[in-house]
Amino acid sequence: MDLILSDIHANLHALRVVLRYAKRRAIARFVFLGDLVGYGAQPNQVLDRIQELKPRIIVRGNHDRACALEGEDLSFSPPARMAALWTRDRLTREHLRFLQEVPSGLLSVEGDYQITHGSPIDEDAYLLHPREALRAFDTFTSDLCFFGHTHLPGGFELDEVRGTMGWIQLEAGTWFQLRPGCRYLINPGSVGQPRDRDARLSFVTYDPARRRVKLHRMPYDHVGAARTIRAAGLHPHLADRLAHGI
Ligand code: ZN
Repeated sequence: MDLILSDIHANLHALRVVLRYAKRRAIARFVFLGDLVGYGAQPNQVLDRIQELKPRIIVRGNHDRACALEGEDLSFSPPARMAALWTRDRLTREHLRFLQEVPSGLLSVEGDYQITHGSPIDEDAYLLHPREALRAFDTFTSDLCFFGHTHLPGGFELDEVRGTMGWIQLEAGTWFQLRPGCRYLINPGSVGQPRDRDARLSFVTYDPARRRVKLHRMPYDHVGAARTIRAAGLHPHLADRLAHGI
């Protein structure tokens, strides 16, 4: 079983809850879809925990790039840019080097599936609409690619037999069976900053033997996470949004 996590965004309060779940279920294969840091106030603590896990694979996110590499990212909103600079100032030398070495997508996970942060060809692109997803399906080869970046759980199903494409809603706590003849782009949602108006953290588990995916939503101490963001002097919007899942 693989645990697929995206957009942690330096939210230690949320990550701890996921790791407790993984421990209870004895799940040890961790896959990260990027944006380990940025926005949140505990980047070093989060990177310590992630390194301890010895993840199966990590792909870089746009915030990881902005926090680890010199030069300002002008595409960022002022709160995000401020948070990236704040993070870069505080990362330990070891964590900075670790982030700089995380590869960008598209990456293959032992021939089984692929992962990326934004879209398979652009870590900064948001896969939101079917027409974008349709183009994206042409740019990777496997039947399954996990992506993040939008912080919205769900996915796209391309039925190559019927020639149809549509958005699939994943129901939390229920296995979604991948169908033969179909290809998938699946987003686990965000651990550290959910944006679907549900404050609960979000991730998926993937069972490669039975080719099925399950969405998990769990409450966490978002009040505590917001408190650390305010105490760090980061933009208050980054704290306030956690309670609303926006
Ligand atoms: Zn993100």
